[in-house]
Amino acid sequence: MSECIFCRIAAGSLPARVVYQDDQAVAFEDVNPQAPVHLLVIPRKHIPNLLGVGEEDEALGGHLMRVACQVAREKGVAESGFRVVANINRDAGQSVDHLHLHVLGGRGLGWPPG
Ligand code: 5GP
Ligand code: ZN
Repeated sequence: MSECIFCRIAAGSLPARVVYQDDQAVAFEDVNPQAPVHLLVIPRKHIPNLLGVGEEDEALGGHLMRVACQVAREKGVAESGFRVVANINRDAGQSVDHLHLHVLGGRGLGWPPG
């Protein structure tokens, strides 16, 4: 069994509030939401972060972005606005080493981010 918590969520062995899944991607609610809508979109494939997206993953990267937009629409924040964030390594505060796109919305989001 993988030690990676997001691999475990993708496999269904760690519970999560899944809002979308297909053969390549899973989207679920963040356990510690920072906005009224806070979803995470992950590939089923274990890739540590965006730096690990290789040429062979280009279609997968595009798919993750489309899933992020689809779940934002379904949660009703597409028109009001939302943010897609990928934290990469220490200075960005990446805490889970499995690629994930944060989808944040439902309130005004400050810029620049902290
Ligand atoms: P990062 O800080 O790596 O960009 O984001 C990791 C995110 O994963 C955090 O927002 C954190 O709340 C979320 N998270 C960590 N562990 C779990 C978990 O077991 N379940 C869910 N649903 N979210 C998690
Ligand atoms: Zn993983």
